[in-house]
Amino acid sequence: MYLKSIELSGFKSFAKKSELNFSSKVSAIVGPNGSGKSNVAEAFRFVLGEQSIKSLRGKKGEDLIWNGAGDMPRGNRASVKVTFDNSSKFLPLDYENVTIERVVHRDSVNEYLINGSQVRLRDIVELLASAHIGSSGHHIISQGEADRILNATIKERKSMIEDALGLKMYQYKKQESEKKLVKTRENIAQVESLRREITPHIRFLKKQVEKVQKGLELRDELTKEALEYCKREDHYIKTITDKVHREKTPLIHIEKELNNELEHAKKILENAEHKDAKSEELITLENDLHKVRDDKDNLFRELGRLDGEVTSLVKMVKKQEEVAHSYEHKTVTLVSVESIAAEIENKIIESKKSDKIEVLIQTLDEVTEILTNFIDHNKDKVDMSLLEDSRKDIESLKDSKNKIEKSLNDLKVNENRLSSQYNTLKDNIEKEKDSNRDAEKAVFRIMAESQEVRSKLHDIANQEEILRLLKEDFKREITELGHMLGTHILQFDLLSYDFTEPRNLQDERRRKIEKIKIRLEDSGGIGGDDVLKEYTEATERDAFLQKEIKDLEKSAVSLTELITDLDVRLSTEFKSGLDKINTQFKEYFALMFGGGEAHLSVSVPVKKKKDVDLIMNDEDFANTDVDSLTAEADATTEGIDIEVNLPKKKIKGLMMLSGGERALTSIALLFAISQVNPPPFIILDETDAALDEANSKKYADMIENLSKYSQLIVITHNRETMSRAGILYGVTMGLGGGSKLLSVAFDQAVTIAK
Ligand code: ATP
Repeated sequence: MYLKSIELSGFKSFAKKSELNFSSKVSAIVGPNGSGKSNVAEAFRFVLGEQSIKSLRGKKGEDLIWNGAGDMPRGNRASVKVTFDNSSKFLPLDYENVTIERVVHRDSVNEYLINGSQVRLRDIVELLASAHIGSSGHHIISQGEADRILNATIKERKSMIEDALGLKMYQYKKQESEKKLVKTRENIAQVESLRREITPHIRFLKKQVEKVQKGLELRDELTKEALEYCKREDHYIKTITDKVHREKTPLIHIEKELNNELEHAKKILENAEHKDAKSEELITLENDLHKVRDDKDNLFRELGRLDGEVTSLVKMVKKQEEVAHSYEHKTVTLVSVESIAAEIENKIIESKKSDKIEVLIQTLDEVTEILTNFIDHNKDKVDMSLLEDSRKDIESLKDSKNKIEKSLNDLKVNENRLSSQYNTLKDNIEKEKDSNRDAEKAVFRIMAESQEVRSKLHDIANQEEILRLLKEDFKREITELGHMLGTHILQFDLLSYDFTEPRNLQDERRRKIEKIKIRLEDSGGIGGDDVLKEYTEATERDAFLQKEIKDLEKSAVSLTELITDLDVRLSTEFKSGLDKINTQFKEYFALMFGGGEAHLSVSVPVKKKKDVDLIMNDEDFANTDVDSLTAEADATTEGIDIEVNLPKKKIKGLMMLSGGERALTSIALLFAISQVNPPPFIILDETDAALDEANSKKYADMIENLSKYSQLIVITHNRETMSRAGILYGVTMGLGGGSKLLSVAFDQAVTIAK
């Protein structure tokens, strides 16, 4: 036996805590109308998780709570606790006893507890389903619901049978799997859509990454080339700088020396520039000297002439004086003298023209003759005044002579001075001429050498300019490379190469670097760490999504398989269960009706509304409204039809059965179902109400038979039924308006029931 007890407190009419123990296979609850018996059956439904308040005869949750009557105030909560003996572990919990409790509060909040621990409704439903205590309540037949299975739609009927066959568990699993499958497919679709969303981005990133990788390769190549280029360029610049410096230093020195020399030579030549002045001075001196000498000659000549005149006058005077003494006073006319003088002079001039001595001698003879003649002519004619005049002339001549002699002296002094100046100057000029020549030579040499030095320095300056440009270029190149490749490019210094290669290779290297730079820029430049990171992340995410899809697809496949398995299982077990039920149903039916036949059959799903009439039996039609019919017609779920064939009657449709016949048919079917897959307990609330005495006996027999498989709790007014119960509970309405529970003996029960 599984069911141990039920405890109601504050539930409906059970204001006080009331407990019913079910230590017998059949327990009966008896009592007058309205005492609260059905509330006990409902308490079972309630605690087992019924969610329809309507089926508990209420509108809302608080209708289930003791509402107060007499001096018993209304309660705030209703609770029902059912305890199962779980020693057989028919409930999959590791407890000897399992107590399930449900509490409802006035605010309609429900609590569910298993062995005192709060759980979800779902936990309770699943737990009970595993023990064939389904929520459809096929094992709890409420009052007036004996023929519920007959009234139900074919679909509901099928569901009840499935529940009774313990297939609900599979149904739950199936539904759950289907839900999971739908969810999984949604997830797959979602993940696929996510993948689709990121695919173009990944494609884009891939291209970027390829570019970046290309860029990195190019960058490596560029780094390698750049390092070598920089090292070589640096080395080259240093070498050339050293070379230029080495060449320049001595040249600068030489140039300085040459400049000094030139300065010196120039000074000399500058002095030489005064040479003209000196020459002019020399010429002036020469002219002066010449003039002084001319003057001197003239004076000499004058002096000679004067001397001659004086001498001649003196002679004449002497002669005159002698004459005077004889011919002392003989006077001759000046004209005669001048005439004779002129005559003599002419003779002398004439003789001078000839260089013949004979002519001179002849001239002298002639002069002598002239003079002799003159004297002879004038001997007797001495003129004293003339003599006196002559003396005076002599004196005057002597004065003139003195003056000339003085001038001559002056001229001599002047000549000497000039001559000395002239000589000194001439010497100087001669001397200078020598040193100027040297200086001029030196200037030419210096000029030539300077020219050479300047030309060399010019070359060096050119080289320096080239070097400066090279350095500038190099600096710019390093900066550019630094920007592109980072500062480690500066570590070129640490490298070493063989530096003997021709310079043009370095040009080729530079061109190569420029080409790589262009390609690098074309490839989108460098950097791209972010792109790589993003690409890695995106591909990882994609891979994750792909795996996720695979996993989801796998689980979809396994869910589909599970659903198929469950379908197969449901269908096989349903079929075999149905067959078994049919066997039992047939027997019970024949037993109840003393013959006849009853049969359950799976009805083919209705496809179209117009076909419904043809397929559905009258009973189904009567119990089905058009809307639900359409809905049902749309569904593909199968239903269960009931066919009955009463003995000796031509009744085939359920519609044509009497109330009692309907009750008997239902009971036969319920018992058949319960026997095929016995639930732990069955509650029958006045299922026997419509039975006559003969049928009551059959009913009681069947109860007894059924109690071999399931514990039975029967609510009954029927004496026959009561007689089969091991325990009898009487429910009465107390004075306060609440249900009262008492354990009673059979006779008492009969009385109470009435
Ligand atoms: P019958 O033999 O006629 O079927 P019964 O013994 O099955 O009667 P129930 O239907 O179980 O009687 O009980 C109905 C009684 O319970 C009614 O008197 C009703 O007033 C009472 N009842 C129902 N709900 C509450 C409630 N929330 N509080 C108090 N009493 C309630």
